[in-house]
This record gives sequence, C-alpha cells and structure tokens, in this order.
Amino acid sequence: MTSEVWDAVIIGAGPAGATAARRLADAGASTLLLEKQPLPRYKACGGGVPARTIDLLGGLDISPVSEGNVDTIDISRFGQAQFRKSSKRPLAWMVMRDRFDQYLVDLAAGSGASIRDAAPVQSIVEHDDRFEVETPTGSVQARHLLAADGATGPTARWLGIDSAPTRSAAYEVEVAAPRSALERWHRAANVDVGYRPWGYGWVFPKQGKLSVGVVTAPARGRAIRKQTDRYLSRLGLADVEVINVQGHPIRYRRSVGEPVASGRALLLGDAAGLADEFTAEGIAYAVHSANLAADAVLSGGDPAAIYADAINLHIQPELDAARTISRLYYWCLTTWPWLALKTSKHINYLWRAFFRVMRGDSTYAEELSSLPFSGTITRTLSGHA
Ligand SMILES: Cc1cc2nc3c(=O)[nH]c(=O)nc-3n(C[C@H](O)[C@H](O)[C@H](O)COP(=O)(O)OP(=O)(O)OC[C@H]3O[C@@H](n4cnc5c(N)ncnc54)[C@H](O)[C@@H]3O)c2cc1C
Repeated sequence: MTSEVWDAVIIGAGPAGATAARRLADAGASTLLLEKQPLPRYKACGGGVPARTIDLLGGLDISPVSEGNVDTIDISRFGQAQFRKSSKRPLAWMVMRDRFDQYLVDLAAGSGASIRDAAPVQSIVEHDDRFEVETPTGSVQARHLLAADGATGPTARWLGIDSAPTRSAAYEVEVAAPRSALERWHRAANVDVGYRPWGYGWVFPKQGKLSVGVVTAPARGRAIRKQTDRYLSRLGLADVEVINVQGHPIRYRRSVGEPVASGRALLLGDAAGLADEFTAEGIAYAVHSANLAADAVLSGGDPAAIYADAINLHIQPELDAARTISRLYYWCLTTWPWLALKTSKHINYLWRAFFRVMRGDSTYAEELSSLPFSGTITRTLSGHA
C-alpha cells in the first residue's frame, strides 16, 4: 500500500470516467483512473454520439476519431423501408468506441491524470477520511471515489448504493459492409421499428463497417441474438463478414429516489443508470454526469448532496421525459402500427423536435411540455413498465 492519498480515484475508463479524470486533472486535483481491461478496450455500443455531446465535452474536436456523421433517420418496419427524415445539421457523430474512449483517456492523461489499465478494482474499504481501493498490484487511497464502471460494474453494490434496477437488453454486431450498403446508409441511420413490447433495431454507418443491433426489453434478452440475425437477413447482410459481436445490458434510473452518491463516493454514467428509455443512448449523459461529478468534488462542499442535486436537476428530468415519450411512442406503434407510422411520417413537427433534442437545441422535457395535454400525457404514462 502506498501512502499517497489521491484527491480522486475513478473506476472505469469509458466516456464518464475519462471525462471526469480530465476535468479533475485540469483543475489540479491529483487523479488516478483505473480500468479493468487493457486499453484501448472494445465496448458493445452503436457508437452514435448525439451531437449535443460535443458541447458537454467543452466543444472538443472529435474529428480525429470520428467515422463520419449522420443527418438522416431512415425508418423501416421489420426491415421494410418506410420513410426518411433529414436534419439540416448533423444529429450524431459516428465513432468506434475503442478509439473514441481512448481519445478521451489520452486527453485526461495529457491534463495530468494518471492512468492504470488492466487494473480491475477488486474491493473497496471505506474509512472516515478516505477509501482504500484494492487492485491486483496493490491498494490505492482516495479522498473521493468516482464509480464510472458501467452497467455491470460492482462498485455501487460494494458501497451499498443500490441504484437503477431497470434494465434493457442490447446486442450489437459490427459487420464489414458491402459498398451498396455503405452507400444506402451514407450519413443515414436506420431505425427498425415494430418490436414488442418495445425496442428497435439500428444500423449506424462507420468507415467501411456498419454497426447493427437491437435493444429491447430484458424479458426478450434470450431471443435478442435471433432477432438481430433476422434483422441482418432482412437488410441483406446475413452473409457479410462479422467483425465483432457483443451483448450488454443498459440500465435506467427512473426516479430521484434511486441513489447516485453516498458521502464522497459518486456514481457516474451507466453505473448510475443514466441512459434514456427512448433512444437507449447513454454517452451524452455519461459525459454530463462526469462534468457534474467533477464540479461536486471541486466544490469543497458535501459532494454527495451537491452531485445528487445536480443530477436530479439537470439529468433526471430528461430521463423522465424520455421515458414518457418512449411509452407513448411504443404504445402507439404496437397498438396501431400502420396509423403510427403514417402519422410519424407526416407530422414533421415531431421530427423537428427530436432533431432539436439530438443537436442540443432543446430538451425532451421542453418538447414534451410544449405538447397539448402534456400534463395528462405525463401523468398517464409516467408509471413503470
Ligand atoms: C449494444 C449497445 C449499444 C449502445 N449504443 C449507444 C449509442 O449508439 N449511443 C449512445 O449514446 N449510447 C449507446 N449505448 C449506451 C452506452 O454504451 C453507454 O451509456 C456508455 O458506454 C456509458 O459510458 P460509461 O463511461 O458510463 O460506462 P462504460 O463505457 O461501460 O465504461 C465502464 C468501464 O468500467 C470498466 N470497469 C468495470 N468494472 C471495473 C472494475 N472492477 N475495475 C476497473 N474498471 C472497471 C469497464 O471495463 C469499462 O471500460 C449502447 C449500449 C449498448 C449495450
């Protein structure tokens, strides 16, 4: 055991952990980032970074690791093309997560954070004034502990911060796409609807590759692989070379009552269930929570109280609004599929609203509150699945 006590030890080098490490190191805090896997590491993910994330990253230029961007949503139902909608500006940047996350880790290192990969945290002992964090090469001491260890990380459980029990199943396949498929989805993301009880399939274009996947209810988790295979067949991609396959849960925080912090330990990103139930995306929320966590640690006040208040004020209303929108959308789609598709094809207002949220020009909460009868919709649909 070394005698150095770090201002912050961060567990997990995804977008949440790497961003928090950069923010803290930039402010002069002694910061250690511990990652279980050797870096760069692969993460099952569509790699669609909503455009609004760039502002949350302080206007960071991600072009060195961008695989292009998407400004068009191509809607299909069980693989059958329906319609396309385009935004004037990019909606999302496409990245490969190993390169994107490593870029954020390198920036953290450049800011002065220490990085240790292949260093799984094995246990944590909480003392009055510090945490003792055990790794295979010895223990480290921390005044603050930031758990950014993802949807399956153990830290929240070890610390008794029982958070975000709601989950979905997600499965992703990366394929080497033929030229015709890359042309079809050039700057366009396919969203395939019709899944019960809810969920969707996606195609996200990358350089020479496509990310294809399905996100659905956990009860459908056993069937998700077959569902993805069927989707690939309908897209005419059944026989293409598969580069990577991985499944992973996504967790959703559903109320301010689900804890995100205790004392000087804070949960970030997926570890706190900060993903939304409409799109199932979590990268923007991971980065946002990292900013809020760094601010709470640097504030000199009570980090848990400051962080929880900030999450409840800035992120939870978005997760709540996204859940309401998701329930409305999937209820319409599964009850009257053809009517729902026709309506969503012709009501451009809905698309403009969605695009505003993706680009960061608006929020789900603002868009939901501007709908007629929004109070009634929210009250009726805010119950839990
Ligand atoms: C199939 C799939 C597709 C998705 N597609 C999208 C998408 O297109 N866009 C989007 O915005 N979101 C998407 N998401 C969600 C997104 O991947 C997550 O929200 C995001 O990765 C959360 O970032 P994070 O930093 O909180 O956690 P992660 O990126 O999961 O990072 C956690 C890190 O902690 C490490 N770790 C775990 N345990 C330990 C330990 N004991 N010690 C040390 N390190 C540890 C892990 O190895 C990992 O590197 C998708 C998720 C899935 C499953």
